[in-house]
Amino acid sequence: MAWDFSTEPEFQRKLDWVKQFCEEKVEPLDHVFPHAVRLPDPAVKAYVRELQQEVKDQGLWAIFLDEELGGPGFGQLKLGLLNEVIGRYAGAPHMFGASAPDTGNMEMLAAYGTEEQKERWLKPLLNQDIFSAYSMTEPQGGSDPNLFRTTAVRYGDEWVINGEKWFTSAGRVADILFVMCTNGMFVVPRDTPGVEIMPEPRNHNHIIYRDVRVPLDHLLGPEDGAKTLAQRRLGGGRIHHAMRTIAQCNLAFDMMCERALSRESHGRLISDHQMVQEKIAESYAMIKMLRLFVLETAWKIDNTSTQEARTEIAAVKFTMSKTLREVSFNALHILGSLGTTDLTPIQAMYAAAPTMGIADGVDEVHKATVARRVLGNYTRHEGNFPTEFLPYKREEARKKMQPLLDARPELAAAAEAYQKYLGRRR
Ligand SMILES: Cc1cc2nc3c(=O)[nH]c(=O)nc-3n(C[C@H](O)[C@H](O)[C@H](O)COP(=O)(O)OP(=O)(O)OC[C@H]3O[C@@H](n4cnc5c(N)ncnc54)[C@H](O)[C@@H]3O)c2cc1C
Repeated sequence: MAWDFSTEPEFQRKLDWVKQFCEEKVEPLDHVFPHAVRLPDPAVKAYVRELQQEVKDQGLWAIFLDEELGGPGFGQLKLGLLNEVIGRYAGAPHMFGASAPDTGNMEMLAAYGTEEQKERWLKPLLNQDIFSAYSMTEPQGGSDPNLFRTTAVRYGDEWVINGEKWFTSAGRVADILFVMCTNGMFVVPRDTPGVEIMPEPRNHNHIIYRDVRVPLDHLLGPEDGAKTLAQRRLGGGRIHHAMRTIAQCNLAFDMMCERALSRESHGRLISDHQMVQEKIAESYAMIKMLRLFVLETAWKIDNTSTQEARTEIAAVKFTMSKTLREVSFNALHILGSLGTTDLTPIQAMYAAAPTMGIADGVDEVHKATVARRVLGNYTRHEGNFPTEFLPYKREEARKKMQPLLDARPELAAAAEAYQKYLGRRR
């Protein structure tokens, strides 16, 4: 059925299970053992594996991957509905085998890897036996890939990589690095000689690749295919971020409403002040708009392709950072002084909003993409006046209706009378 906004009952049951699982098991684990998935303690590891097995038993593991790539193949729309739930909990993406940057890297491996490469890297990544990072941005320029200089040169049966990368998230703790070179995408084990990780920044790493040698089969996809692979990786990643952003906005909204109903000032609940109501109403509408936009884009990807949905994905990308920025600001403001502390999630959420406008491509670049692609569907008008210039429209309308007016004299007389009436009024 077309234009149906409801969720199939069977899938709704899955969503209900996910919500309950996150509330009862993932959220407590997040507070007691933050970053549990990466903790080396065997007892914590074993418990994480137990939880992950529950997810696998539900058929919800690696939910971002299509069936032919080794996942459950829910498609983007259902993934959107799932991410709306799990995006609320920091540790949940790990529990569902769907955490960045591994997801995008796995997508590239699944789509472009040889059987041997999948066996060697995709399987252990899917099982979280190893972790990965993505090395694309360079210190001299991030937004424009034409400025990237890192290159691989072939010597005999090896590629030798030289270059410098900036902001490789979790590079320090990754087992393998996906390195975008001017002439291809390469998989580099982190402990390869010549991979030098700078002490700062701590989490998003500055890495020098100095004469790093990898075997020929560490090239992923075709030679010179780096930009295509990067697009594939980033396109998916952007819409997944947007899905999780809805969850973050909903969390901010819940906090805002609860607080507005719980505090008084100047003789009334703060929810009774109109300027507070305005923030609540506008936040509500902004989240609804973002959600519909994200889900419609996900639906379009399912029915066409990521490539076909590029305009929507780019527009979603800057809309999500704006929505998160405004909704989290409203929530922080309504929480007053408490909102400015780190005693609730809201301060970190607000601080993260500008980051969302930079990661995965800065908002300006996405806006330019949207404008360029949208303008491609238009042509310039002839002469000095636009197509909607009313005198032109009237003339055209008159020509179009003339055969009808000729056939029906009473209509022609009414049209003439009306013209006279208009003439008197002018
Ligand atoms: C949290 C986070 C995680 C990240 N993780 C990774 C990662 O794992 N791997 C990786 O390789 N990179 C990663 N990045 C880097 C990210 O891809 C870059 O930050 C991004 O591409 C922008 O590049 P830049 O930081 O060099 O900014 P610049 O390109 O220097 O842009 C700075 C500013 O210049 C302006 N600007 C730039 N281009 C245009 C334009 N065309 N039109 C108008 N204005 C423009 C904008 O105001 C922009 O914000 C991450 C970034 C963040 C914030």
